[in-house]
This record gives sequence, C-alpha cells and structure tokens, in this order.
Amino acid sequence: MDEFALIRQYFAEITRTLPDSVSTGIGDDCAVLTVPAGQQLVVSIDTLVEGTHFLAGAPADSLAWRLLGAAVSDLAAMGAEPAWLTLAISLPEVSQDWLQAFSKGLAAAAAQYQVALIGGDTTRGPLTLSAQVHGFVPHGQALLRQGAQPGDCIVVTGTLGDSRAGLACLLGERSPAEPIQAELLRRFYKPEPRIYTGLQIRPFAHACIDISDGLLADLGHILAASHCGARIDSTRLPLSEALLSVVDPAQAIAWALTGGEDFELCFTLTPEHWAQLQRLTLPIPLTCIGEITADTGIQLYHAGRWEAVTPAGFNHFAQQPAS
Ligand code: ADP
Ligand code: MG
Repeated sequence: MDEFALIRQYFAEITRTLPDSVSTGIGDDCAVLTVPAGQQLVVSIDTLVEGTHFLAGAPADSLAWRLLGAAVSDLAAMGAEPAWLTLAISLPEVSQDWLQAFSKGLAAAAAQYQVALIGGDTTRGPLTLSAQVHGFVPHGQALLRQGAQPGDCIVVTGTLGDSRAGLACLLGERSPAEPIQAELLRRFYKPEPRIYTGLQIRPFAHACIDISDGLLADLGHILAASHCGARIDSTRLPLSEALLSVVDPAQAIAWALTGGEDFELCFTLTPEHWAQLQRLTLPIPLTCIGEITADTGIQLYHAGRWEAVTPAGFNHFAQQPAS
C-alpha cells in the first residue's frame, strides 16, 4: 500500500464535512484556513513516543484518544474552542489492523472534541504520534498561567490521581476488580479535556493550567508565572471511589498531588466569582482546594499540620512500592 492510498483510506476519510473555517483540508500541499474575525489562534502540539509515553503493544484506538485528549486539554486550559487538528505519525511498518483501530479511535475523538483533521505527515520510523491542535479565543481573552492574585481560590475540576492509579494497573502494581480496573484505565487512556469548563470560566478566571505533570508541579507553573504562592488543604483534594479502593488515603493524596496526566484544570479566581460559579449548572464537579498567597512557595496541610512542600520533595511519597 503506498503512502497516498494509506492517507486516503485511514485519514482523509475522517473529516468528511469540514467546518467553514477550512477552505482546503487534506490532499494539497497545505491546508487553507480562516481564523474567524475577532478571534485569536491558539496552538499546541503533543507527541507520544512508544517506550517513553506508552508501553509497546498499547491498543491503537486508546492511543488515538490519549493523544488527542492530551492535546485538546491544552486548548481547554486556555479557554479556547477547539477547531483544527494536524497529525504527524511515524510507523515502523504498515499494519492494517493497527491503522484501522487508530483511525477509528481518532475519528471518534476528533468528533467528540469537535476538531477537524486538516493535514499531517506520514513517515516510516519508530512508532511516534504527534497531534497539533488549533483553537480560537476572542482577542485578548486567552486564560494564561500568569494573573493569579493573593486571596484567589484555587479550584480543580473532576478528581485527581486516577490516571496514576490506571498506570499502576497497567504496570501490574495493582489488580483491582474489573469495573474499578476499567474505570482507572479509562482515566489513563481516555482523558476528558475540560473544554466546556474552560469556556465557562474564561470571563473571570485569573489563571489556568491543565494538570499533566501533577497538581503540585502544574500549580507551581501558575505560581511562578504569577509571582505568588499557595496554601493547599490536602483533606479537600477530590479523590474518586475508584482511587480510594486501590490505595490507602495517604497514598491517594500523594498520587492526587503528584500523579501526572489527569488532564483536569486547575484555575484561580476571586472568592466572589467562586461563589457565583458554584451557582451555575456545571458538567463536572469543581473543588476549591486552597488559596493563593502573597508569600511564594506551597504550604500543604497534611497529617494534621501545615508544611512547606515542593513537587520534587513529595515524590518519594508518591513512589512507595506496591503493598
Ligand atoms: P507533502 O509531500 O506535500 O508534504 P504529503 O504527501 O506528506 O504531502 O501529504 C499529502 C497530503 O496528505 C497533505 O495534505 C497532508 O497534509 C496529508 N497527510 C499526510 N499524512 C497525514 C496524516 N497522517 N493525517 C492527516 N493528513 C495527512
Ligand atoms: Mg509531507
């Protein structure tokens, strides 16, 4: 099968109907695109490398969801509306089964997140997948990491630590009963970018990030960009039943603080706006876990006392051997 037949069969078919913003999609030397008037283009790229970001033999459809979910999560964190996707893939061989499963997962994920596949590149080499996503945000309204203010509430979406628990299942460190295992693996492979929440908080959130490297690390980026610190109450961290059924509460908190790839949002806003936000109908739970401080560094309330923590300092705790 030649490269062009492959692209036609597995990728060109994905986006049958193109949005108005796309004049020319897959098939020419470049895509031809229009950013709607008054909007800014927001762009991000993510790469998954076999052996580094996923285990050899990982299901191809799950990889497509994982790739796109992680990329679109960056758009959500900017308060952007997803629009376009370009895809660069390097494949060690042409496996029809793999391509079939991958393109099916990609089509489903692209439809769910409302991104149109508009081009890409296909090469031979070690299995590597890159997704570049493009979104729109009204001029000057992108949610940045900078802008958090002392006194702001720190809010997170969903629950934290589940993806790390999913990884523990994949690595055989934990073997919970089937429904729990399935739920945790779903959290690992099928991140749910918080697009709607990003749009909802855009008018009033001061700073926002998506949690890809762990809450402490990613909150740390907001604090560095905003030149402030934070107090976090570990008893308020949102922990799922699934997580608490595979580890003790202390380990669940450690994974919630340092486990990566939950792809939830972490944002800050005034207490008044937080009160307003809680009165809206929200698609997913939001939890206030602490507040922004003028003093730099992170103070954590944990095991009955406040202590200064760093993301690195907490890692030993997060990597306790399986019990
Ligand atoms: P060129 O050699 O001009 O870069 P290619 O032969 O690489 O063009 O690609 C032909 C067309 O197919 C282009 O429009 C390109 O964007 C698209 N394309 C290639 N690979 C992919 C892919 N994996 N997913 C989506 N579109 C792709
Ligand atoms: Mg090319």
